[in-house]
Amino acid sequence: MGNTIASLATSFSRIWRQILRWELNQTWTTKIWKSIWSLEVPNKYKNLVLRACRNSLPTKQNLTQKTIIENPKCDRCSLQVEDSLHALWSCSGLDEVWEGDRWSFRTREVFADFKELCRWIIENGKPTKLFTIQVWAIWHQRNKIRLNQPCFLTKDLQQSAQEYWNEIRINNPMPDRVRPKPQPRWTGPPPNKYKINYDGTISNTNNTSGIGVVVRDCHGEVIASLSQQLDQAYQPVEVEAMVACRAVELSSEIRVDCAIVERVIRN
Ligand SMILES: [Zn+2]
Repeated sequence: MGNTIASLATSFSRIWRQILRWELNQTWTTKIWKSIWSLEVPNKYKNLVLRACRNSLPTKQNLTQKTIIENPKCDRCSLQVEDSLHALWSCSGLDEVWEGDRWSFRTREVFADFKELCRWIIENGKPTKLFTIQVWAIWHQRNKIRLNQPCFLTKDLQQSAQEYWNEIRINNPMPDRVRPKPQPRWTGPPPNKYKINYDGTISNTNNTSGIGVVVRDCHGEVIASLSQQLDQAYQPVEVEAMVACRAVELSSEIRVDCAIVERVIRN
């Protein structure tokens, strides 16, 4: 009986972690989509990057899988299968396009697919606009070569993308990041109700997470609060789930049964 319960607990834990991983992946897919789409560059650049993230470009790998062509090997290097990541980023024939300090991580970081590359670039504050322009230039040139049409030489792609990026920066001096959204102001609950705000933090450096909950009345007075340090750096969705549960528990402990629960809003 004990073994059966232990086995069930293990299975449940594994399934729960799979759900959390799936949710985290969905969260990141949405975040990448929003980050790319909010960039102030023409839609053709953003569309191409998002298509590459969805693996919907007509790469030689995709065309081979649809039995349209037989050879999936990249035309630039003739060595590797041409998927989105290879065609736009990792092919050795693109070394000249991605050379320079800002792209030096190309020789260190390994990515499973193009979406993972985009995620890394967004997370690490790399110039995302320039990235989308260079990606478009590479794909555009690749298609021109396949059609035997005149195009930039590979060695000139980085320079041409850089010049266009400079033009965009002169016309729009916003930082090359996702445009910050205005923070909504905290509003109090209606009379005779309470508002429970919660938030969580993760420190990968210290391998810890933290959660915090504050309960306020309709005048904004703090009725109760708690903060707690957790013993490891959990995933964001795990922290969010734990702090949301703790917020509901706290409202029960202090017998607040008429409350609005929401993530914290910083004024
Ligand atoms: Zn190649």
